[in-house]
Amino acid sequence: MGRTLCVVNQKGGVGKTTTAVNLAVALAKGGSRTLLIDIDPQCNATTGLGEGPCQSHPLAAGIPLQPALRRIGGNRLELLPGSRAFHDVEALARIDEIPASRFRHQLASVQAGFDFTVFDCPPSVGSLTKTALASSTEVFMPIQCEYFAMEGLAQMIEVIREVMESSPGQLQFGGIVLTMVDHYLELSWEVEKEVRDFFGEIVYRTVIPRDVAAAEAPSHGKSVIDYAPRSRAARAYLELCMEVLERD
Ligand code: ADP
Ligand code: MG
Repeated sequence: MGRTLCVVNQKGGVGKTTTAVNLAVALAKGGSRTLLIDIDPQCNATTGLGEGPCQSHPLAAGIPLQPALRRIGGNRLELLPGSRAFHDVEALARIDEIPASRFRHQLASVQAGFDFTVFDCPPSVGSLTKTALASSTEVFMPIQCEYFAMEGLAQMIEVIREVMESSPGQLQFGGIVLTMVDHYLELSWEVEKEVRDFFGEIVYRTVIPRDVAAAEAPSHGKSVIDYAPRSRAARAYLELCMEVLERD
């Protein structure tokens, strides 16, 4: 069975979308058939790959996902775009009311063709995030290397625990990745140490450096791996991808 990585952190701006996009691109380049699902109404993963949001979200509308998939770059990465349409946002926010089984069934029908599915979640612990978690095999949490990095994580972890308890055995804590690390700053070392001391082995060895190329890439509709393949951020995401593959 394929692996489904759910990129979560209820804080905005910590590098979820950048990580979801670049990890998906790296996995696809490495030969894995990969599906990136954008469930954030901000649709940053969608526009960051040069695509437009879809008008009516198939997950909300309850229609087949297959026709909505967009092929990105080569042929191993496909994107299920996000949607900004108000009714979609509403419907997705009330996804609790949609039988979870329907959502899973919709996903399962397309996931069969992929080695990896990557969810880019909104910055919240709302029902959208919970539903994505419940449909995933691994929690993948980016933590921004800054002073309040761990603040608010308790609530997120509580939600993850709830989902794990409601469907035992399905969801695991896949890993934590430190993002926007700046080793010129003493603070970055301190935060990294704090996160590693607290979470231990589940923190990936690879850290993602702060790199302007990562911030520029989305405005060119590309992953940083395609936009600036020699950049530090691109290399870090490729290395992270290797670690993700190793942890199978
Ligand atoms: P989230 O999805 O958690 O809100 P994003 O991935 O959108 O976070 O990142 C927030 C901002 O930081 C974006 O403008 C993004 O381009 C920028 N960013 C992300 N990762 C890096 C990095 N490694 N170096 C520099 N800027 C980054
Ligand atoms: Mg985002």
